[in-house]
This record gives sequence, C-alpha cells and structure tokens, in this order.
Amino acid sequence: MRHDVRACDVIGDVHGCYDELAELLDRLGHRDLLSPDIAPAPPDMPPRVIFVGDIVDRGDKIVRALRLVHRLCVRGHALTVTGNHDDRFLRWLCGKDVEIRHGLEESVREFNAIPAQEREEWRGELIAFMRELPWAIQIDGGRAVVAHAAWHAELSAERSPGRIRAYTLYGPVTGRTTPEGFPERIDWAPEYNGPELVIFGHQVYPAPYMHDYAIGIDTGCVFGGALSSLRYPELAVTSVPSLGARYRKQGGKVMEYRSAPSRY
Ligand code: MN
Repeated sequence: MRHDVRACDVIGDVHGCYDELAELLDRLGHRDLLSPDIAPAPPDMPPRVIFVGDIVDRGDKIVRALRLVHRLCVRGHALTVTGNHDDRFLRWLCGKDVEIRHGLEESVREFNAIPAQEREEWRGELIAFMRELPWAIQIDGGRAVVAHAAWHAELSAERSPGRIRAYTLYGPVTGRTTPEGFPERIDWAPEYNGPELVIFGHQVYPAPYMHDYAIGIDTGCVFGGALSSLRYPELAVTSVPSLGARYRKQGGKVMEYRSAPSRY
C-alpha cells in the first residue's frame, strides 16, 4: 500500500499503554489528536502519525488505546499496519477459535467489559476497520516502508498474500524453537541493504535499533521500557519512559501494576 506521506511520526508497539501514548503524542506536538471530538483531516492533509501495529494486548488501557487509534485512522490523521497481536485480536472479534494467551486475555477482558449494545456496535466497526488494514505502508514515494516485524524489497512483487502476511507479522525465522517455545527469529535489520528504509516494531530492543536501512522502534513500553517514535525523514527518536511494566516477557500479567490517573 502506497501513501504520499512525506513527513510523519512513526510510533512503536503500543500494547494498550494509553498513558504513554498520550504523553508521546503531546511531546511530538500532536496534543490535538487526543481530543475525542477531533474533526476529520482536510483531504489535502496527509496523515501525521503511522503506527507499526500491536495496539492491543498485555497493557492496562487497551480499549482506550484502540479507540484512539481507530478514531485517528478513520478521521484521516493516522495510519496503522497490522501487528501479529492485532491480527489475533481481530480473529477473536470475528468469533474464530484462537488461543487466549500472550496478552490477548487482557484485550478480551477489557472488550467484554464494554456495555453490550455499545460493544456490539463497535465490534462491527472494528472488524470492518481492522480487516482493511495493510501489512505495510510505503511512504515518501517508496523511499521508506512501515511494517510490523519486517519487510524486504522483493515483497513488493510477492503474489502470495499468505507469504506477505507471515513475513510482515512475524519477520524471518530460522524454523527452530527457542527454549521458551517461541519461533527463533533472525536478526535481519543489520544485514538489510534496502533500497528502502524499513521502520518496524515487534522485536523489543533496549533502545531504537538504528541501522542504515532498517530501524526497530519497539522499546518495550508494556514490559517497563519506553514508548518510542521516529520522526521521518529526520530520523529523530523521541521516547517516553514506561510508567511501569504491565506484563512479563515470558508471559503473565504483572499483578502489582496500578495505573496512575491519566493526565489526558
Ligand atoms: Mn509487539
């Protein structure tokens, strides 16, 4: 999916960390985007913000974060690609048989707590919205690509939607399994030679993972790290420290986390 965005802020995996997302948007000069009554963007104004996906699961304000991203996308202020967690949440929303773990249990709990009529109306809107989300977004005339876990130039010509889906949602894997039972990932970013710059999330790094043609910006906010963004084309990083871990890397909610009252 090609988009004529030339300048934007790309935001890493939110995972229901609404408070840090609000703080980050404020710091980036997008405080107006937090208003529930924000007007649709004029047709000649490109979206200002692009999310790398994984809006849902694990965090403490998943519904609030998803409502914000949904609203900003529908009103033309933001774009998002699909993350592997968003993809699984969508399948759950559609009534498919998915395993409710890896933080999906938090999304399910929050979603089911919405009053029934409002919940079912939103379910329909969300399904329609999330089904249409792209696997990748090309910006700046194709000079950069935003994808959840990974991208490579040959995917532009790939005809199999299943292959594009698997690569963008999970990235390249070795086929082996880690001792924790996860697919072993390949550290592709340092080796990637472009030609386009790939901005991605999914893999958690202690600081943005900056390489010539690939930049990873998931700094693990939900695990107690930070929520980071990359301003394009300047490639300037902004990070908001996490207000606290909500989830442990090997799975499991952090029970002692109590979210602070939001300033926003
Ligand atoms: Mn993620």
